[in-house]
Amino acid sequence: MNSMKKIQFPLFKTKRNNSSPKFNLLDPQEQKAYFQFKAGPEIEKLRRYLRKNTFIAYLLGKKNSGKGTYSKMFAEVVAPDKIEHFSVGDMIREVDKELRDKERRKELISFLERNYRGFFSLEEIIKKLEKRDTSTLLPTELILTLIKREISKREKKALFIDGFPRDLDQVSFALFFRDLIGYREDPDVFILINVPESVIDERIKWRRVCPICQTSRNLKLLPTSKVGYDEEKKEFYLICDNPNCQGERMVPKEGDELGIEAIRERLRKDEQLIQYAYSLYGIPKILLRNSIPVEKAKDYIDDYEITPEYYYEWDSIRKEVKVKERLWKITDDEGVLSYSLLPPPVVVSLIFQMVKALSL
Ligand SMILES: [Zn+2]
Repeated sequence: MNSMKKIQFPLFKTKRNNSSPKFNLLDPQEQKAYFQFKAGPEIEKLRRYLRKNTFIAYLLGKKNSGKGTYSKMFAEVVAPDKIEHFSVGDMIREVDKELRDKERRKELISFLERNYRGFFSLEEIIKKLEKRDTSTLLPTELILTLIKREISKREKKALFIDGFPRDLDQVSFALFFRDLIGYREDPDVFILINVPESVIDERIKWRRVCPICQTSRNLKLLPTSKVGYDEEKKEFYLICDNPNCQGERMVPKEGDELGIEAIRERLRKDEQLIQYAYSLYGIPKILLRNSIPVEKAKDYIDDYEITPEYYYEWDSIRKEVKVKERLWKITDDEGVLSYSLLPPPVVVSLIFQMVKALSL
């Protein structure tokens, strides 16, 4: 494994020419226009394809690399009613709930009795499901049985699978996965996502969560529309702007101040998994990268596609917070000074590569 060559994630050019229009990518209407401008014909090809066909895409990226963000945005832009983001983590959380409900627990156990085949007894399986801490993996045979059950309940759609394969020994199962869930004739593809660890680190460190509605934002990268200042503590804070919520002060989650230090081992495993998946033959791969060297940016992308960082100043006379922004610079994993892209340009790259992977 160590002798494996590092994957080169190519830069993707979204820039057309210097006179093309500018879009505010935080505005939903402008975001729509942006996708039409950058990938209109490709979106049309995918829509036509999805009228009668599906695909399965496996998302492989480090924790907090934006897997859900990219695939949900892709679905939203291309065909929300034909594409589904399937998260194995969410599925397991739902199973946890089933186990705590008397009726649903019975149904689940009866299902497992009939369908689970593997190296553990039913009692051991239930124990594993109930006493699980997040670092122990559930047996692959169990995960597959549960995924099969979940997918058979749903209408057949194109799938982005998030959270499978999760471990090296699950990768080869992915090769037969579409047979297992009844998608035998549908093309499948691996989507490998490259995000610098410094980006993941700051996403965690500056994350703020609403204690009431659990909405998650980022003080540095994705603020709410209202920002407050605590004169005593001398710190800025976000105010929840979810219209169904009550304007609560958002707070850091315990442990987030450690950033990636707390998940270093997990990130190392995720990296290994990406490398391993890359080495597979016979299955197309889409390579997405989140960052672009500062010195290449001018030729490849437009300025408005770069993630800005927000910072704040306190006007003590007017008693108000001034929100300021500038282009956010980070160092990528190779030590190159880079920008981090906003999700839309990465999704444009995903759209183009998907068209190619499906030979449209
Ligand atoms: Zn809230």
